[in-house]
Amino acid sequence: MVTPIEGNGTPETVWQRWEATAGWPRLPLDPPGPPLVVAPHPDDEILGVAGLMATLGAADLAAVTDGEASHPDSSVYTRTELAQIRRAETAEALHRLGLGAARVHRLGQRDGGIDEGAVADALIPLLSEGRWCLTTWREDGHPDHEAVGRAAAKACASTGARLLEFPIWAWHWATPGDRRVPWDRARRIDLSPSAQAAKQAAIAAFPSQIAPLGPAEADAAILPPHIIERFTRSFEVVFE
Ligand SMILES: [Zn+2]
Repeated sequence: MVTPIEGNGTPETVWQRWEATAGWPRLPLDPPGPPLVVAPHPDDEILGVAGLMATLGAADLAAVTDGEASHPDSSVYTRTELAQIRRAETAEALHRLGLGAARVHRLGQRDGGIDEGAVADALIPLLSEGRWCLTTWREDGHPDHEAVGRAAAKACASTGARLLEFPIWAWHWATPGDRRVPWDRARRIDLSPSAQAAKQAAIAAFPSQIAPLGPAEADAAILPPHIIERFTRSFEVVFE
């Protein structure tokens, strides 16, 4: 279900007041090896599970697109330049998490036009029985996030890998207790102060998304401070 992503969304202060989050089961951090994190766009992996990656100290990344469509009418950068910038930002973010040696698999899909079947086919050889596969939730509300979530689900079903889905835009359009969200499947990852600091530093490695590219409306920040606030909590959430 693609939900329109508009307005300011649910403020982080509202999420902070929701007491149910404290009672969600903790995800045991016992992966059989480095997880595979599958990101529709560069920065999804960081917003969703950078704290987990920093905590585990190992992870590989499947970068589905280069995020070249974040500012389609930019007067500052072409799509090709944006793709280059965002690839470099991901590399820097991984470095800041202590994961400079992470393997990055580039799937080369078009931002805004993902071929779901091709993504599933590309993920299958990267997965194996029991390997953790973390990706955006299938009903996150953004077409690319949903397509990648479905593709990863298919790849996990055929390999026996363990799928863990993280919400990104659902924190924007949903509200506490929202019936459209599977809160009963929520698992919580509590982050140490050092993991939180590493995540903050990794988010800051994406100036093309957190700051305007220029003064024009088409160059506005995609992730202004009120959105970033939702990703600088002391815990992360995945759906099992
Ligand atoms: Zn995204």
